[in-house]
Amino acid sequence: MTSSQVPGSSDGRRPLGNSIPGVYARLGVRPIINAGSWLTALGGSLMAPEVLRAMEEASTAFIDLRALQTAAGEVLARACGAEAGFVTGGAAASNVLMVAACMTGDNPSKIDQLPDSSGMKNEVVLFNGHENHYDSNYEVPGATIVRWGSSRPEHSGDFATDNIQAQLKQAFSDQTCAMAWVSAPFMRDPMPFKEAAAIARERAIPVIVDAAAEVPPAENLTRFINDGADMVGYSGGKGIGGPQGSGILVGREDLVLAAYENHLNSRGTRAGIGRSSKASKEDIVGLVTAIQIFTDADHEAVWAGWRAGAEHIVERLKGIDGLRIALEDGDPNRQGPQPVIYFESDWDGPNPGEVRAALLAGDPAIHVGEGGYGDEINIVMVNVQSGEERIIADRLEEILVKEN
Ligand SMILES: *Cc1c(COP(=O)(O)O)cnc(C)c1O
Repeated sequence: MTSSQVPGSSDGRRPLGNSIPGVYARLGVRPIINAGSWLTALGGSLMAPEVLRAMEEASTAFIDLRALQTAAGEVLARACGAEAGFVTGGAAASNVLMVAACMTGDNPSKIDQLPDSSGMKNEVVLFNGHENHYDSNYEVPGATIVRWGSSRPEHSGDFATDNIQAQLKQAFSDQTCAMAWVSAPFMRDPMPFKEAAAIARERAIPVIVDAAAEVPPAENLTRFINDGADMVGYSGGKGIGGPQGSGILVGREDLVLAAYENHLNSRGTRAGIGRSSKASKEDIVGLVTAIQIFTDADHEAVWAGWRAGAEHIVERLKGIDGLRIALEDGDPNRQGPQPVIYFESDWDGPNPGEVRAALLAGDPAIHVGEGGYGDEINIVMVNVQSGEERIIADRLEEILVKEN
């Protein structure tokens, strides 16, 4: 990464701004220090100045949107090792469009007919352990979800893995339009993705993957296509650093074209099912610019920047009786290196929920992670801007030591 790509620091973190951006001040909305990951509710991610400049430039001319999507799709497809792609209105929109494409193909009257999916294959097969609140995306175009896996899901819970392949095969029927797979932190896979994809492909069932927040690491851009996915969706506005309202859909050319028709429905008589989450020319150009910066980045330097911030916080907070603070680095469930605060049985201070509330109530407000393995507090560094690690450490010290 060159210094021009992420001005102000070589490690990918921006210097701390010391004033409230005017646009938020005028609206009376206060900024929040984001130590909780790429959270949509906090604004996703921050775009590099190059991305913003590209979007501004894009806004100065009219273009043929389809031609722009085709050109952008080539960039995305190359980055993901796929045949084709285009920019959607977010990974949730990619989920909707992937299912729609599997139901309609490129048949204009079927595309017109959605969300009424009668007469089409309309069952999406989904592992119970992959249940999450984006499942509803699959139902938006009119599909129903057929769940499989022999225990109710808890993100950290176990599933019976005996006869796991038979369990999957039983979920398939002549109405199956797709096998959905969700890849996300704290989700248990029933078997390696590659194995599940192979079982679906034996029956010519398309495999669709929700990998919204799985990038970085950059390898995950190509991993699912390489391992047998027919289509994959990613968020543009999480780790890739594109516009918050953008997403990627890549995969097999015929299915991607079918998804695009469901996005805008150029040949039908009605707006496509995806029309409510269209991608603008600015989003398209912004995401293409962001993914180019992302794939060229020195990911080790970025990681080292996150780690340095994490080390600062761990150093400042270690040695408090009743708390164990660890620097966890390399846990695939945790995004980047993270200071994690574990509350031991002899801790007599505020409980994790009270600490989180105090952090949010402070000035500046700080939003931290909610653990994942239990009731620990984890501090996600990926959106912590340079210098903010000191504010986080100061405030935690006040809450855990001085005010306690
Ligand atoms: C964030 C997320 C989404 C939604 O992504 P958007 O880009 O915000 O639409 C979908 N699925 C999973 C697993 C996610 O983490």
